[in-house]
Amino acid sequence: MPDRQVQSINPATGEVIESFTPLTHAAIETALENASERFRTWRNVSLDERAELLNRAADVLETKAAEYARDITLEMGKPLSQAEAEVKKCATACRHYAEYGATYLQDETFHTEARRAFVRHLPMGPVLAVMPWNFPFWQVFRFAAPALMAGNVGLLKHASNVWRSALNIEDVFRRAGFPDGCFQTLLIGSSEVEGVIRDDRVKAVTLTGSGPAGRSVAAIAGDCIKPSLLELGGSDAFIVMPSADLDKAVKSAVTARIQNSGQSCIAGKRFFVHADIFEDFSKRFVKAFDDLKVDDPMKADTDIGPLATLAIRDELADQIERSLKGGAESLTKDRTVPKKGAWIAPQILAEAHSGTPSTDEEMFGPVANLWKVPSLDDAISRANRSQFGLGSVLFSKDDAEIDQAIRQLEAGATFVNSMVASDPRLPFGGIKQSGYGRELAADGLRAFVNRKTVSVA
Ligand code: NAP
Repeated sequence: MPDRQVQSINPATGEVIESFTPLTHAAIETALENASERFRTWRNVSLDERAELLNRAADVLETKAAEYARDITLEMGKPLSQAEAEVKKCATACRHYAEYGATYLQDETFHTEARRAFVRHLPMGPVLAVMPWNFPFWQVFRFAAPALMAGNVGLLKHASNVWRSALNIEDVFRRAGFPDGCFQTLLIGSSEVEGVIRDDRVKAVTLTGSGPAGRSVAAIAGDCIKPSLLELGGSDAFIVMPSADLDKAVKSAVTARIQNSGQSCIAGKRFFVHADIFEDFSKRFVKAFDDLKVDDPMKADTDIGPLATLAIRDELADQIERSLKGGAESLTKDRTVPKKGAWIAPQILAEAHSGTPSTDEEMFGPVANLWKVPSLDDAISRANRSQFGLGSVLFSKDDAEIDQAIRQLEAGATFVNSMVASDPRLPFGGIKQSGYGRELAADGLRAFVNRKTVSVA
């Protein structure tokens, strides 16, 4: 019997919002049995019916967006307008798979001597999703919508600071009319994850989170020979060349770095700006940062709220200090932030030396690292000197530069003249220490299916 209550704490104030009792081992066993039992019937439900249920889930998300958003903001501190946009974006993922799921799952035909040869996409069974707090709804729906459409059933182990949101997500599927057991939230800590992955009834695991968590989950899945998908951290490069539309580049750079109060895996985190436009870019970038409104995340005009927990704030403060000691210069104004709660001032750190957190680590908060570079070659070479490879951005109107960046940037995505964004219509994922596998679009639907080869003589 778990002996500890798990608390949700409002990071804006430090107050406890709610306490939860983690599941007992008996309750975990019941959930696993329910999942396994439900899969036996859910796999035979028609694609039309699955699509209809996903459209109803989208209706629930849209109708209750304000309510779910408030709980997100209370639990992890993102500005309320962004929380509401996140819930509504989940509806677009549900509608996308409702509309295109059948197409993505179509048989793939081949020409051999046989009368018919094709690959059929069959569901695998219960899939465990270990998810982070930073986009408490979106990360879960980008797994759950395709997984359910493919005929799998979902088990969610959410981050321990967002359990109200975890229960709200289960509520969405219940209200939409999904049969019991199709999607279940397991209120469990990370120490229970190994037992769930090793359980024979669980057929695959997906994790979005940090490198250490990914390594641990992938090692267990590997030991059990079960498929795994990892969406891990990033330190995306954002390169600006002289031909860029500077207004657009600065605006995009600021949004890319501060959305979700800087706690996004695909945030631009390292900015490399060509010497010819550096002064102009840097002046505008710093002014935009100095003008940001750091305030109560419940207010409509707040740009940056608190970080999600005190531990995350303390880690970022330590990284900033180490980068400053390692030669970085802070370009932004000094600000005072509330002492109570997980607050930190947005900052731009310039010209940090290599071997500092600015160059080597993921900085998960509103801190931009900025360097002046002499050429695109130099920008790309510095960009690639990172353990991560999630997204990357180039602002340029030069076709040769665009082609070079697409070929040479080591990342799962390169966006040109806009910031990186996840979109249900586009595959999403990383390389290097940012993980493996792809979510969203057709890849997301095929992530957890048996591509069965069929030959009919
Ligand atoms: P985290 O500490 O790794 O936690 C993520 C999830 O993993 C939580 O549910 C956590 O549970 C669980 N967990 C932690 N250690 C575990 C272990 N040893 N075994 C099994 N489960 C474990 O990451 P986070 O700090 O919440 O999230 C931030 C990280 O996620 C950043 O690095 C960010 O870049 C990355 N991220 C990546 C993407 C992407 O798409 N690539 C998207 C969003 C975020 P507990 O909360 O109970 O510990």
